[in-house]
Amino acid sequence: MQDTFGRTISYMRLSVTDKCNCRCIYCMPRGGVARHTHGEVLSFEEMAEIVRAASKLGVRKVRVTGGEPLVRRGIVDLVAMLSDIEGIDEVDMTTNGTLLTPLAKDLRAAGLTRLNVSLDTLRPGRYQEISRVGELSDVLDGMRAARLAGFPPPKINCVLMGGVNDDEAADFVDIARREPVEVRFIELMPMGECARWPKERFVSGDVVLEVAPELERVGEGGVAELYSAPGFLGRVGLIRAVSHRFCSGCDRVRVTADGRLKPCLHSAAEVPLRGLHGLELERAIAHGIEAKPAHHNLVPGLRSSETPRDMFEIGG
Ligand code: SAM
Ligand code: SF4
Repeated sequence: MQDTFGRTISYMRLSVTDKCNCRCIYCMPRGGVARHTHGEVLSFEEMAEIVRAASKLGVRKVRVTGGEPLVRRGIVDLVAMLSDIEGIDEVDMTTNGTLLTPLAKDLRAAGLTRLNVSLDTLRPGRYQEISRVGELSDVLDGMRAARLAGFPPPKINCVLMGGVNDDEAADFVDIARREPVEVRFIELMPMGECARWPKERFVSGDVVLEVAPELERVGEGGVAELYSAPGFLGRVGLIRAVSHRFCSGCDRVRVTADGRLKPCLHSAAEVPLRGLHGLELERAIAHGIEAKPAHHNLVPGLRSSETPRDMFEIGG
């Protein structure tokens, strides 16, 4: 289905929990804050019903996210249910990767198409500082397990923060030089925990092109601008949400763990889907697609995201 600005919406991001086993400094408070009780979070049947309705409106790809999707009990069953839905060609997942090792094989067998793994540093000590509780070795083991389970090379999501990990930009670009992976640099967006951080923390994706001037634009994928260079096995993606406002390429809607459709990540508008069925549910999703604004309004240091939600509720 097309929105009012002619963008084709074919992608739904589904947050399956607001809980997480990590406490990344920019995303969650140290003590964690799951906002929703078990009963407030959509059941697997409700999620499948929403995706089924969305597929009738042209959604072809679903991304399971969170919070951390792998902490949701029965996640493999949910993946199997979503992959079985007619019209859905791709079920992907964004994960911090720390719990992947024991689950990779079953997720693949259940029909999970591909994985995006979030990784903000390649240094073990720094990984502990950023995630507050995670271990880098668990993520690396998880990626290895995914490869052995037959997944295609993951996309690696890296959020660069000035004075925290921006000195690693070149090391991350090097991964795309050596391996057939897509390393995606996501600009830090001012919301939740980091909404009031000093503006030096908000690094433009341009720094990646400064440390790797050999990179040449080779195309785009959704909201990512894709780069590569001679001799590279992989690609570098820049998701310059803040400095270059990627909204004209936006092809997605989001559903929060408590069943509210968000037409835009950064706006306060939400369409409640819970309790709706059949045509009524389809109409509500279509209404959400029609309500997509032309673009978001955030400006780091000046204007934070207008959504009252935190990133761990929405799923990125
Ligand atoms: N827990 C999973 C993970 O970390 O991959 C999935 C949920 S997490 C909210 C999804 C993505 O959002 C991660 O890549 C994370 O780095 C990113 N993220 C969280 N807060 C962000 C922010 N304020 N700005 C930009 N990206 C953010
Ligand atoms: Fe958890 Fe992902 Fe947020 Fe980190 S970015 S705290 S792993 S939800």
